[in-house]
Amino acid sequence: MALLELKNIHTYYGGIHALKGLSIHVDQGEIVTLIGSNGAGKSTTLKTICAQTKAKEGKVYFEGKDITTMRTHDIALAGIAHVPEGRRIFPKLTVRENLEMGAFSVTDKAVIDEGIERAFHYFPRLKERIAQKGGTMSGGEQQMLAIARGLMMKPKILMLDEPSMGLAPILVEQIFDIVTELNREGMTILLVEQNANQALSVAHRGYVIQTGEIILKDSAERLLTNPQVREAYLA
Ligand code: ATP
Repeated sequence: MALLELKNIHTYYGGIHALKGLSIHVDQGEIVTLIGSNGAGKSTTLKTICAQTKAKEGKVYFEGKDITTMRTHDIALAGIAHVPEGRRIFPKLTVRENLEMGAFSVTDKAVIDEGIERAFHYFPRLKERIAQKGGTMSGGEQQMLAIARGLMMKPKILMLDEPSMGLAPILVEQIFDIVTELNREGMTILLVEQNANQALSVAHRGYVIQTGEIILKDSAERLLTNPQVREAYLA
């Protein structure tokens, strides 16, 4: 049984048919990447999984359970963390407050503190900046904070929407190193990326999405050398 499975998903924005019968799955312990160009439907896929945008047709299963009609809040509680595109942290709140917001359902201070300690383990930089306002941090630091916040609830799967966006190459490298480390320690990851080269170098498997449809799926290794992928996404 897959940890997360989407079966024949159709999602619309008014008259725009954004996902056209999309089926993907993520197994426990995998890094799976969804690559594609601007407007292909990558963000919509993640939004559909966490029911921020409702699927009109099709099913989303998590641990074998149909979560298609569950509320976003309950989906998060069930163990799906969504780190949206553009690092939507709270700019006026401090790093600590941002992390605490990530643990929105946790009332036990000891559990929150444990989460913050875990965040510092992956992102030592955040420790130095614990009292700094989120909005004054650099782009890379904000991305780290966004991911750290996603980890606060100890999710079973972490969904990252373009974590490399707008970052200098050295920071992109760091973010992908952390993705690899998280996975090595057991985290299952669904990674949405335009940066196909980087994404495929850390992922186990990949899907290529084009105008709302999966046009290719394979091991990351084979996708990296696939001529069609090379020409369209790795040029
Ligand atoms: P990008 O990398 O540019 O974020 P993407 O692959 O994540 O692209 P989506 O954001 O999922 O693409 O968009 C898929 C399609 O749905 C696009 O045609 C987009 O214009 C459309 N779309 C996305 N959000 C909305 C919205 N809120 N209202 C109307 N159309 C939308």
